[in-house]
Amino acid sequence: MQVVTTIEEVRAARRATPALSWGLVPTMGALHEGHLSLVRRAREENARVGVSIFVNPTQFNDPTDLVAYPRTLEQDAKLLEAERVDLVWAPPEEEVYPPGFQTTITVGEVAQPLEGAARPGHFQGVATVVAKLFNVFDPNRAYFGQKDAQQVAVIRQMARDLDFDMEIVACPTVREADGLAMSSRNARLNLAERRAATVLYRALIVAVDAWDHGERDADRLRALLQNTLTTERLARVDYVSVADPETMQEISGKARRALLSMAAFIGATRLIDNMLVGDQ
Ligand code: AMP
Repeated sequence: MQVVTTIEEVRAARRATPALSWGLVPTMGALHEGHLSLVRRAREENARVGVSIFVNPTQFNDPTDLVAYPRTLEQDAKLLEAERVDLVWAPPEEEVYPPGFQTTITVGEVAQPLEGAARPGHFQGVATVVAKLFNVFDPNRAYFGQKDAQQVAVIRQMARDLDFDMEIVACPTVREADGLAMSSRNARLNLAERRAATVLYRALIVAVDAWDHGERDADRLRALLQNTLTTERLARVDYVSVADPETMQEISGKARRALLSMAAFIGATRLIDNMLVGDQ
């Protein structure tokens, strides 16, 4: 496994293997089983696997979140080596955003609600850095987690609109044994918060269970999410949503299929989670 820092080194590795398929897994590091599930899928489907590790400052709307974000490059490299990754790109900030950098990508409607509304500028930062990653790696396939469902929708839209010639692969959310979706931010929870954090999963299960018993009314599904979250004293709800999985617009009346999603603060840590219901 090669670990490199410059764009030129990534391009050289890619140019040396023009006939081989490449899979790219973009990450911000502090790797866990969720990230590794993407890496394993990429390993199965491609001759070469590249992983980027870059805590992208432009997608953080909250400066304290950026400072507190865990950075564990050495441990990450060990985990990736064990997964037989070919190339890791861990650039310093100036390599991605050199002095004078002044271009951003703004995706439209699909990026506006939910995480887009709660975190101004977030998806501009994501779309811009992912476009750069696509240009640097020129992968055949790029792998993203369904845990960040709106991110997948935003990147699909961007790839379609800007003619990126690659497959965008969405992989299922990997969870802890008690249902909590794995996240690098979970490490910041204290013991009581860690216990409380399962309320996101529990709220989704309540709503999915209602769906399975025939509930289709979007308002009632939202109320089930909200009411379950508010049973947890340590949780503060940011939003709950029952939205169209492609457009991310809220559904009114009856749903045929939906993305159930939410964001909540558990103490000072903001967590998100989601599940899809109906025919996808
Ligand atoms: P991050 O390092 O948080 O930017 O995540 C990098 C990629 O891993 C993104 O595509 C995430 O959606 C994905 N990911 C993060 N957590 C999980 C999880 N629990 N299950 C599946 N994918 C995940």
